[in-house]
Formats: sequence, structure tokens, C-alpha cells
Amino acid sequence: MSKIQAIRGMNDVLPEESYQWEWIESAIRAWLATFGYQNIRTPILESTDLFVRSIGTATDIVEKEMYTFTDALNGDSLTLRPEGTASVVRAAIEHNMTYGNSRRLYYCGPMFRHERPQKGRFRQFHQVGVEALGFEGPDIDAEHIVMVHELWKKLGISSNGVRLEVNSLGSKDDRKKYRESLVTFLKGCEQDLDEDSRRRITTNPLRVLDSKDPQTKATISSAPQLLDFLSDESLEKMKQFKQFLDRSGIPYVVNPKLVRGLDYYNDVVYEWKTDFLGAQGTICAGGRYDVLAEQIGGKPMAACGFALGLERVLATLASCEREIPKENPDIYLVSSDKTAQLYAWDVAKVLRDNGLKVVLHCGGGALKSQMKKADNSGAKFAIIVGDEEMAKKTISLKSLRLAGDSGARQQQELSVHDAIKKICEDGV
Ligand code: ATP
Ligand code: MG
Repeated sequence: MSKIQAIRGMNDVLPEESYQWEWIESAIRAWLATFGYQNIRTPILESTDLFVRSIGTATDIVEKEMYTFTDALNGDSLTLRPEGTASVVRAAIEHNMTYGNSRRLYYCGPMFRHERPQKGRFRQFHQVGVEALGFEGPDIDAEHIVMVHELWKKLGISSNGVRLEVNSLGSKDDRKKYRESLVTFLKGCEQDLDEDSRRRITTNPLRVLDSKDPQTKATISSAPQLLDFLSDESLEKMKQFKQFLDRSGIPYVVNPKLVRGLDYYNDVVYEWKTDFLGAQGTICAGGRYDVLAEQIGGKPMAACGFALGLERVLATLASCEREIPKENPDIYLVSSDKTAQLYAWDVAKVLRDNGLKVVLHCGGGALKSQMKKADNSGAKFAIIVGDEEMAKKTISLKSLRLAGDSGARQQQELSVHDAIKKICEDGV
């Protein structure tokens, strides 16, 4: 029979790597707690309409990247979430979460986009997202920058490994005026643009600014700049935002061509980029989205947030050669025969009750091959029990970490109580 394989662009994370995920997820949770953000868990599947109305029909995501299907049981159009913000805002509206109250929220989980799989780009990928609902900003926008800056420090990503680019998209009216001027410019040099960009002149001209095509990039270098079209109000917000960053000593560059791939953003937007990952260098991106709640049928709600791409953050850590600690067992417990295994069974429980991580050898076999498994398990100690230990209610303890045949690697017969003491003293 033919083998069944995972879907292209959707990865299995095996134990050889999953410890890195567990480590980063717990570091991230601790970091979020220090800023007072609370976890929100929304479904992976939503009504297709939610993403069409929030992300926008003329975006890459809605045009060609969504996993959309009809629920055969009732005919509903459903979509696997391509991002997290729309779902969080939907939930906030549905549960009246911001009634008389602003909220600091975060989520973590898989997102789905039907893109061409390549380095740093997958069809199922994972994001940690932060959303601040009911805040006018720009203090909270700057708080998000400070948070991410702290995270890089905590994770050990050096500050020359990532850089921050910021921009302001202004208000809807500002963008409308800018759009007209940009379209005129783009039409004037249409023949020099790549095919995608030419198509976007009418559908989503701002996205042309984000083109990765070298000739298009050169052509639009003299395009009118959105920053010149901003209202005084938007300029003031940007100025205050930058003041907070300066106060925290966080370096940034203003990139007037920075636009986001989703339509709901306004005013302050930003991306954290690294040179470690080639073309897929954005590891965190976000901004303000004050119109999103209304777009999906809620009352107006000021809000902003960002999302981190976990695969890309992990790849950046690997490039920085950051050592990620592995969670190994403390003890691998072996026994000489079936009767001794019954004793080992009880010893394992006592050890675990004392907070130790114990792998009990299962499946029998010669002591020598059991010890080989103990060596390969990564455990710090082996505990060996046989008839003698069983009779005396003791165990034999052997360190697996010390190299060679030094005395410390010798077996030592101890009471279970003394063994626990010794293991704990040795820095478990
Ligand atoms: P890009 O310009 O790289 O396509 P995007 O603007 O589509 O990114 P966002 O929707 O802002 O990305 O998502 C936030 C972050 O999630 C990105 O900065 C990136 O780190 C990560 N990300 C986005 N798409 C993918 C993907 N297909 N595979 C892996 N990570 C992704
Ligand atoms: Mg994208």
C-alpha cells in the first residue's frame, strides 16, 4: 500500500526539535505575564466572511492563500485561520469584552496559508500574537515595541541581529489622497513594473511599495511618499510614538515604503527584520487597526497589536547559535529480572513523588542492553536494582554524566532516601 505523508508545507515537529518549541513557548508566556497580557484561545476554524471582511479582498491572503471549504453538512463556507487578529476582535465583540474596559490579550497557535513552501514560509506556521483592545495609543503602540525589544534580549537575540522599521499609514482619508497620487505615478511607469505590481495598480496600489522585484523596487524609488500626505493628527501620533522609543533607547529606522499585507491597518505600523533568514526576514510585524471592529460589525474600537512568526524566531536563534536547554530525565531505572522489575516499579513511584523525572525501563532484556538505553536517554543517573537490592530495600546509583571510569562513575549502593538526597544535591 502507498505511504501516507504529511501535507506539503505542514511540518511534523519531532522530539529532537520540539524541546526548542516548549522552551520558547514557556519563555514567551513568562515574558507576556511580566507585561500583564492575558491568554485568549479562539477556534482554528472561522466563517470565511470574517477574514474576507477584515483582511480585505485585494490582499494576497484572501486572493489566493486561504484554506477555504464548504462544510458538507450545512453548506457554510469555512476557513482555516490565516492570522489571529480577526478572530480575537470577533471574540471581543461577541463577548462584549471591552465594555467599559480595555484589554491586553495574547494568543499562540497555528495559522494556515496556501503559499509556496520555502525557507521561512510554510503552509501551517505558528504565531504568538499580542492585541491591545480599547487603547487609543500611541503609548500602547510603543509598549509593544518595548515588549518585543525585551523579548529579543531575553531570548539571546543580539540587538545587531534584528532591526526595527516603522512607518505611519495615516488615516483612511490620508491614504485615499495618497492612493490617487500613487496610482497616477504607477500608471506613468507601468511598463517597468512586474506583472503582479501592474495588476495591483487598480486593486491594491499600496502593496506595490512592498514588491520584492528588483526592477519594480528601482522604479518606485521616486514614488510619492505616504508620509507627505499625513494629517497633522497622524503626524503627531507618530511623533509621540517615536518619543517613547527614544526614551527607551530603542533604535529604529523610518521606512516610508513599509506597508502591511493586510488591509485593516492605520497609523503606526512596524516590522522587526533580521538578515539571518534571507528574503523571509520579517520575524515580527504589527500596527494599529482602529477600523477593524467596525468592518466586522462591531462598535468602533481603537486597537493595535503584533504577531511573531515562531518558526522564524527559532531559525534566528539557531543562526545566533543560541544553545537551547534540553529537558532530560533525571534517572533511567533498570532491573535485572522480572521480579526485580516489580521492586523497580515501586522505587520509580517514590522517586517521582519526590519530584524527580524518571524513565522506567520497559520491555526487559539483558542488563547490558538496558544500560545502553540508559546512556542514550540523556538521563543524569542510572538506578539499577536486582535481587540483592530488593532484599535489602536499597538501590545502586550510577552517574551517567561523568566521563571515563572515574570513581564517581562507580556504582554506589544506597537507601532510596539517600539516593534521592544525593541526586538532588548533585544539582538536579
Ligand atoms: P511576509 O511579508 O513574510 O509574507 P506577512 O506580512 O504575510 O509576512 P503577517 O501576516 O504580518 O506576515 O504575519 C506575521 C509574522 O508571521 C511574519 O512576520 C512572519 O514572521 C510570520 N509568517 C507569515 N507568513 C508566514 C508563513 N507562511 N510561514 C512562516 N511564517 C510566516
Ligand atoms: Mg505574506
